[in-house]
Amino acid sequence: MVFGSIADSGHEQVSYFNDPDTGLQAIVAIHDTSLGPGLGGTRVLDYETESAALEDVLRLSRAMTYKAAAADLSLGGGKAVVLLEEPKTGKSEDLLEAYGRAVDCLGGRYVTSVDVNSTVADMDVVARRTDHVVGTSDGLGDPSPITAHGVFCGIRACIEAVYGTDSVADREVVVQGLGKVGRELAVKLLEHGASVTITDLSEDALEAFAADHDVDIVAPDAVYDHPCDVFAPCAVGGVVNDDTVDRLECDIVAGAANNVLAARRHAEALREREILYAPDYVINAGGLITVAEEYRSGTRESALEKTSAIEDRTLELIERADDEGTTVLEAAENYAEERLERAGRETPVPPA
Ligand code: NAD
Repeated sequence: MVFGSIADSGHEQVSYFNDPDTGLQAIVAIHDTSLGPGLGGTRVLDYETESAALEDVLRLSRAMTYKAAAADLSLGGGKAVVLLEEPKTGKSEDLLEAYGRAVDCLGGRYVTSVDVNSTVADMDVVARRTDHVVGTSDGLGDPSPITAHGVFCGIRACIEAVYGTDSVADREVVVQGLGKVGRELAVKLLEHGASVTITDLSEDALEAFAADHDVDIVAPDAVYDHPCDVFAPCAVGGVVNDDTVDRLECDIVAGAANNVLAARRHAEALREREILYAPDYVINAGGLITVAEEYRSGTRESALEKTSAIEDRTLELIERADDEGTTVLEAAENYAEERLERAGRETPVPPA
């Protein structure tokens, strides 16, 4: 049963590490290395069950394969989870060093980085035991501004496809989530003349931003009914779902949040409503591009330049979707699968 789910999702290798001395229990899932080493962060969580941890790491690592392939990176898909019973107290340096040894024994087939509940400081400890780690304090720094740049490029491509001009000037954009990416995106949009409306669960964050910038504010619950040209989800996943998909009053959904769609069928539902959806993993790839550059000894400048290519890639996928009568999500998957096939992979398995 367990091996069946691994095989069904097309994984090359799934390794379980156990170190009783430090309490380390980790699963590293390497989905596909046809294009290069599987790169993906380490999620440190108190999972309810071991099956939930396995399911998460399988889903996330497979998604990384598609994200890297769609961004033209020479990288495969991988991800890891460290299972902690007490995430706040259980992440000792000894445990992280043991985890570094675990990553190292994979010989570079998997490269790790930060993710939910793992930090730059943690990666510094992991790096004592392996070179196959990025996102350390002597790396390229916080990728969020570069992610925001890529999302901005993706939004521009969507605007060009829908309105025939790539200018965001006077376009009404709603940014959901004023975190590390959302803030940067909102600033960039304003700099380019867009009319920006913001929302966040934190009233303090909204007020602080509105004090310095010319923006409107909408309540978190009202955001889905708010008329606009572009809805940019930059908070959490699953915001386009059965409850919201028919309420959206926009022409474009394009944002940074991972897994914007609660389910694949929502891509088709948006298409039926003639709302253009730019797949999140295509336009939020700036972060992955940054850590990929770090691994290859590149610079922030080279990461930013490569991230700019998201605009052309998004346009190309929109055109392909139009030609083939599919969603842009399917067009992105087809593009990624073609790259994998050319690299020797025979039976790609699309993200769930
Ligand atoms: P963050 O944690 O810094 O910010 C998220 C913000 O969203 C917070 O201000 C939070 O209060 C707000 N928020 C949460 N739920 C909300 C809701 N229901 N309505 C409105 N606001 C809500 O995160 P981030 O680094 O800015 O990333 C944002 C999203 O983009 C996440 O889904 C993340 O996985 C994804 N992403 C980030 C990067 C990156 O480089 N940081 C790269 C790729 C994808």
